[in-house]
Amino acid sequence: MKYIDEYRDSTIARALVKEIAGRVTRPAVLMEICGGQTHTIMRYGLDELLPPQIELVHGPGCPVCVTPLETIDKAIALASRPEVTLVSYGDMLRVPGSRSDLFRVKAAGGDVRVAYSPMESVKIAQANPGRQVVFFAIGFETTAPANAMAVFQARRLGLANFSLLVSHVLVPPAIRLLLSQPANRVQGFIAPGHVCTVVGYLDYEDLARQFHVPIVVGGFEPLDLLEAVLMLVRQLEEGRAQVENQYARSVTRAGNLAAQQIMEEVFEVCDRKWRGIGSIPASGYRLRPAFAAFDAERVFGLADHGVEEPAECISALVLQGLKKPPDCPAFGLRCTPLSPLGAPMVSAEGACAAYYQYRRHAVPAG
Ligand code: SF4
Repeated sequence: MKYIDEYRDSTIARALVKEIAGRVTRPAVLMEICGGQTHTIMRYGLDELLPPQIELVHGPGCPVCVTPLETIDKAIALASRPEVTLVSYGDMLRVPGSRSDLFRVKAAGGDVRVAYSPMESVKIAQANPGRQVVFFAIGFETTAPANAMAVFQARRLGLANFSLLVSHVLVPPAIRLLLSQPANRVQGFIAPGHVCTVVGYLDYEDLARQFHVPIVVGGFEPLDLLEAVLMLVRQLEEGRAQVENQYARSVTRAGNLAAQQIMEEVFEVCDRKWRGIGSIPASGYRLRPAFAAFDAERVFGLADHGVEEPAECISALVLQGLKKPPDCPAFGLRCTPLSPLGAPMVSAEGACAAYYQYRRHAVPAG
């Protein structure tokens, strides 16, 4: 990749749209998994450029959005402890827990810090041996290698004051769940290119075979996504169901083996609860027993407790592609980025925030 503009060229975009329109002969519901892809689609109006037979629905690939309310409550409880420094990616701070959020804890004097990398939190722990430093380790396979490396380094450094609050989720089990549901309408998936950069796409080949569904590993720029749609349309029109790689400038079939090795050493697969969706078997990572000393839930004895989502929030349906944000009665009225009811309105990758930012005209009259 030389220039980002190459992937935003309007002449090529129009040619791709024309080719899609020339090939599609029947309705097709396609889902982009990643919230970053959703934002590109909304920002450039790609869904409005496509022929009417093609409907794009938005998937559960926003890590902030699927982090369970209970886990956010645990982060808030930790950040409220006087001996704890809680380090987090920035967009977790405004995500509402059941009673508060991390911003409010920080405003009330809690030691909550924003980091771009978990290694920053290791440095904070090194520099502050009198404090317990907890990194809020959320995300998909994309962020897992860096979080695994942070724990690995903390152990190498002999840090006794560093731990992770882990809420890692994995994409293929979520696609499997969506495809297994009777209400599923999705006929083709744009898989997340950054996730596949790490783990490759062998698992997606199993899904394509088992459910006879085409999957295209896609990038994040407008031309990436239009090309991925074209590749899906070609497969659907030809009756094929394969995994194809549109994002070949970053993704290989086997992925990044060094990253997978550190993930494998530090994490093991577990059942994981997804906000709004519920527990999905084998859909997350937790620390292996050898790294139990770095597990904040064990270190601080945090227990699970059931909490209710706001009744009005239909994020569960939005995250499964069954509804779109403007279908929510609270969208743009009682739920805005400044006053979010649910996580998809908070996160930079959330579908509700994308519609609010780029499709404000879709806000219903209140
Ligand atoms: S608009 Fe707000 S309340 Fe509605 S689904 Fe999205 S986050 Fe939930």
